[in-house]
Amino acid sequence: MSTSPQKNDVIRLNIEGMTSEGSAVGRHNSFTVFVPNGAIGDVIDCRIIKVKKNYAIGKIERIISPSPDRIESDCPVSFSCGGCTYRHIDYEAQLRIKRQMVEDAFRRIGGIQIDVNPVMPSPEINGYRNKAQFPVREENGEIKIGFFAPRSHRIIECGGICRLQPEQFGEIVNEVRSWMQEGKIKAYDESTGKGLVRHIYLRKGFATGEIMLCLVLNGNLKEKDKAQLIKRITEKHDSVKSICLNKNTRDTNVILGDDFELIYGEKAIGDRLGDLEIKLPPEVFYQINKEQAERLYKKAAELASLKGGETLMDLYCGTGTIGLFMIKEAMKESANTGSTPIKLIGVEVVEESVKTARENAKMNGINNTEFICATAEKAAEILLQRGDIPDVLVIDPPRKGCTPELIDTIAKMNPERIVYISCDCATLARDAAIFKEKGYALHTPTPVDMFPHTPHVECVTLMSRIEE
Ligand code: SAH
Repeated sequence: MSTSPQKNDVIRLNIEGMTSEGSAVGRHNSFTVFVPNGAIGDVIDCRIIKVKKNYAIGKIERIISPSPDRIESDCPVSFSCGGCTYRHIDYEAQLRIKRQMVEDAFRRIGGIQIDVNPVMPSPEINGYRNKAQFPVREENGEIKIGFFAPRSHRIIECGGICRLQPEQFGEIVNEVRSWMQEGKIKAYDESTGKGLVRHIYLRKGFATGEIMLCLVLNGNLKEKDKAQLIKRITEKHDSVKSICLNKNTRDTNVILGDDFELIYGEKAIGDRLGDLEIKLPPEVFYQINKEQAERLYKKAAELASLKGGETLMDLYCGTGTIGLFMIKEAMKESANTGSTPIKLIGVEVVEESVKTARENAKMNGINNTEFICATAEKAAEILLQRGDIPDVLVIDPPRKGCTPELIDTIAKMNPERIVYISCDCATLARDAAIFKEKGYALHTPTPVDMFPHTPHVECVTLMSRIEE
């Protein structure tokens, strides 16, 4: 029988596991207790701060005996900002946790007992993020720029510095702060809906060094303030090739509004994934960790094993990067054999991404492509009816995974190989179980660490049609 502890009790706990959100887990008289900032192997005294029917939440009071995986966190705000849940855990141990998480998901959610490859480590474990969105708020008459504390809208000020991002981001953030202070430009205040600057959005093409700065505003900026912003930023930061303003006046947690105004340079910055040149306007999805994205795509290309002449379908294709990358890889392989071209059909719901995908294809001289702007569910049905049957299908959905209807349509298309890329191993495991029922064999999944120091893990898996 499990007996629950009471609020404010201080209990001794052995940490035995981690949740998919990165909280440590221990048991007290068989009752589950979640503790942020713990590590597997810790013995701690923790204070119970919340008790629910089936679990409690505790806070570390004292570490009695630290886990061998524990290291000193090298960021002063890592325990409050909530971005780097694992910064106090050795990188090797982070990779072990993530591998276990993927294995557990397949077993518990998919009912599939399968060995999982070791997690592909990220070449860089700091400064790997190519995108940042800093909320800007007015608190007690002061400008605060940083990150929201977990499950709150309280800003943890980080002085513009975040170890996951390039140092230049911090410098630009602080330049924007000075510009605001000097020009008496107000930060947004959620409680009143007043104030102007809501977010600072930055993106960098790591291969080109080009940086985009986009300010999300709750209204319009005076011409003289625009001019001053451009002057301040470009005088000190050569690498900023694009400055734009985004207007978002809605009372919403969604960061970007629909209106963009380009005030300096080009709207899109450039980057390169392997041999693939790409353009990135602010509104499109782009993989956060470029170097690791290349490794993920390489692995996906290896699993797709295109030889030339196939039809490749890329569902949830964003700016077309995976399909185009795979074709470039296959072209490299077949440069000597002169095999026939691969036909690429990409599907993506965001119009700007589809437009960019077409431009990216053209820029790389890849001709035999079609990009469709629609939901994957709808497009797959249309393509099935049209009789466009892929030999290889790549699928890279958001966290919620695929709908059963989409899986059904894909199974009717009957591709020989499906390469499933997922940022949520729980929905991947759920979907893999359905694909299995539909006659696909699951190969050993490979987790890829795109997000060191966070509990997230990407995973790429091949499923191949079982011949009757
Ligand atoms: N494969 C791309 C993008 C993956 S992110 C890459 O590697 O960069 C997932 C993409 O799916 C996003 O671009 C998002 O806009 C798109 N998306 C979300 N829901 C969708 C749906 N129902 N149908 C099609 N695309 C969708």
